[in-house]
Amino acid sequence: MIVVPEDSVVERVVELRRAIHRRPELGFEERETSALVRSELEALGIEYRVLAKTGVVGVIRGGKPGRVAALRADMDALPISERTGLPFASEIDGKMHACGHDAHTAMLLGAARVLAGMRAELHGTAVLVFQPAEEGPGGAEPMIAEGALDDPKVEAIAMLHVAMRLAPGEIGISPGPVNAACDELHLTVRGKGGHGAYPHTSVDAIPASAALVLALQNIAARETDPLASVVVTIGTIAGGYRNNVIADVVEMSGTLRAFDPAIRDGVETRVRRIADGIAAAYAVQIETRIVRGYPPVVNDAALAQSFAAYMQSNSSLRVHRTAPTMGGEDFAYFAQAVPGVHVRLGVRSEQAGATHPGHSPQFRIDEEALPAGVQTLVAFATAFCAGTIGA
Ligand SMILES: [Zn+2]
Ligand SMILES: [Zn+2]
Repeated sequence: MIVVPEDSVVERVVELRRAIHRRPELGFEERETSALVRSELEALGIEYRVLAKTGVVGVIRGGKPGRVAALRADMDALPISERTGLPFASEIDGKMHACGHDAHTAMLLGAARVLAGMRAELHGTAVLVFQPAEEGPGGAEPMIAEGALDDPKVEAIAMLHVAMRLAPGEIGISPGPVNAACDELHLTVRGKGGHGAYPHTSVDAIPASAALVLALQNIAARETDPLASVVVTIGTIAGGYRNNVIADVVEMSGTLRAFDPAIRDGVETRVRRIADGIAAAYAVQIETRIVRGYPPVVNDAALAQSFAAYMQSNSSLRVHRTAPTMGGEDFAYFAQAVPGVHVRLGVRSEQAGATHPGHSPQFRIDEEALPAGVQTLVAFATAFCAGTIGA
């Protein structure tokens, strides 16, 4: 049975969401937000602990035996100056909830209220994970390292992210990869400087760099299955002094994106092979440095499929199988630790002016979407804990 949140719960979620929206805080600085989460949990009689500086883990133990499901929300904002003109717009210049994390936190508090109210009938245990710093440098890893999933031992986890391609009342659930891995690429090409009129007495880093940029395109164009997704972007290139001087050093940076962990590893290997090959061909030295960012978010196939089918047949929400995006999400670490499901929550509406993409200073959501989010979180926890969905 699907629990639809009562009006009083929805009103509280809207109130909390607006309060958080007014006071945006950046990664690991979510002190007011964390305090608000803790006071709300306290008022609901939910036990909690603090992890990873500002992170909070709440635990709701049901009256009946069952499994342990976690629900995760991120709490951080972005360094953007809000330009929505909303009555509850950011009161802090240069900071804004432009990715919907205010709504994620408020909906999880709404789900906490619903679950706390049905403790006696609840099978198993619901764990509420409020994490810092999703936008960077990443709060999921430290939360896990400090035991967010250990006490009690979490068996599955779900999250919501607001989505501009779906409308309120619509959710997106897909098995497999849903967000890409994002890695940074840094390349330094070193030759030997000299006079532009006597190239044979030097080693020119410029043509070697040009060859390297073009050769790297071969990874996506010729070396990767056309049905798989890979991005190799060189975003910056800098080198040289003036028109008649041979450049001794060129620096480049870029981003590497892929969904499949094996393809991600393959891209890294290919970048290194091509850089070494160009270095040999052009008699330069090339230093390749790859900084790994968040891994891809991979939804557990069986869990995602059974949850989508469950919502389809038991709720009035429209359930879509949404395509993945090349954006990143540090929920990836939770989904590596235990079976995880990333659910997209439709928030787009022309009437509410909710059409601008995430990370835009004009970003806003249609609050009509919030009850569907609460319902989805509660449904995941109750259905997984009771053994209705998942392996
Ligand atoms: Zn974001
Ligand atoms: Zn986000």
